Amino acid sequence: MKKFFIYFFSFIFICFLLPALLTKREIKTSTNLNGNNVTDLKQEENENTQVSYDYKKYSTIKLLHTKTGEVEEVGLDTYLCHVVSAEMPADYEIEALKAQAVVARTYTIYKIQNKKHDNADICDDSNCCQAWVSKETRLSRWEESQRESNWAKIEQCVNETKGKVITYEGKPINAFFHANSGGTTELPVNVWGGSSFPYLQVVETAGEEGYTQYRSEVILTREELLSKLKTKYNDIKINFEDDQDLKILDYTDSNRVKSVKFGNHELSGVETRTLLGLKSTNFEMIKEGDNIKFSVIGYGHGVGMSQTGADTMAKQGSNYEEIIKHFYVGVEIKEINEL
Ligand SMILES: [Zn+2]
Repeated sequence: MKKFFIYFFSFIFICFLLPALLTKREIKTSTNLNGNNVTDLKQEENENTQVSYDYKKYSTIKLLHTKTGEVEEVGLDTYLCHVVSAEMPADYEIEALKAQAVVARTYTIYKIQNKKHDNADICDDSNCCQAWVSKETRLSRWEESQRESNWAKIEQCVNETKGKVITYEGKPINAFFHANSGGTTELPVNVWGGSSFPYLQVVETAGEEGYTQYRSEVILTREELLSKLKTKYNDIKINFEDDQDLKILDYTDSNRVKSVKFGNHELSGVETRTLLGLKSTNFEMIKEGDNIKFSVIGYGHGVGMSQTGADTMAKQGSNYEEIIKHFYVGVEIKEINEL
C-alpha cells in the first residue's frame, strides 16, 4: 500500500507538478529577458537623442529680464528653447533649427565668458544680447493646431544638440547670425569696425532668393530723404539734378555698399541703412522722377550664419554641422564639458 502511494505521488509529481514548476521558471526567465530588452531600448533611445547629457559647467544661467529687472536662474537648454523659438521660424528644417540651437548655445557661453551685465550672464533684449520669448507668448503667436508640434520640434533640436558648442582654437566663437545674406555674407569689420575674426569670412550660399526676406524696397520723396538724413546731418544739401550729388562711391568685398555721397556729406553704407531704415547695406539707389528708390537685397548685417541660408542648405541635405562649418570658417564643434 505504501508503495502504491509512493508511485501515485511520483506519478502526480512527474505528470503535473514538475511541468508546472518548469513552466513557471520559463515564464520568469522570459519576463526577465523582456525586462532587460526594455531597459536596453531605453538606453539606446537616450543615446540617440542625447537627452541625458551631464553638464559639468554652465548647466544653469542667470537671465536678466530687461522689462522687470528680475534675474532668473534657468537651465541652459530650457533657456535655449525660448531663444531658438524667438530667433528662427519653427517651420524651418530640423537641421537649420539644430544649427540655430548650437549657435545660440555658443553665443550664450561667449556672453558668460565676456559679461556685459553685473548681476546676470545674459539679457532677453535682442539689441543687447540675444532674443528671448516666454513660452506663453510664443505659443499664442502660433496657430493653435501647430502649437504643440512646433514647441516639440524646438525642444527636439535643442535636445539633440545638447552640450554642443562652436569653437575656434578651443574657445567658443562670437557666433553672429542674421536673417538673409542675399547670397554672400559680410566681414564684421565692414559693419562694426574694430578687429576681425578669422572664422567670420565672406562665404556664398545659393538659394536664398526664394525667401521673402531676400528682396525689399524703400521709396522716398526728396523731402523724406532729406528729413531722414537731417536727423544726423542737419546741414545736408543735395542737388538732385546732379548725378554726382547722389551716388554710391564704393563697395565692400561682399558687394555691399561701403560709402555713399549725399550732397555735401559722405556716409557709410551701414549709416545709410540705419538712417533710411533699409533691411541691409546691399542696395541700389535709383532716381524715379521726384522719388529715390532703394532696392535692397538680403536682411540683416550679413555677418556669420544666414538663417535662410541654413534652411536652404538643410533642404539640400546638409546637416547642422555642415551648415555651421560653411558659415564659420575653420571652426570645430566641441562638447561644452571639454572647454
Ligand atoms: Zn544684454
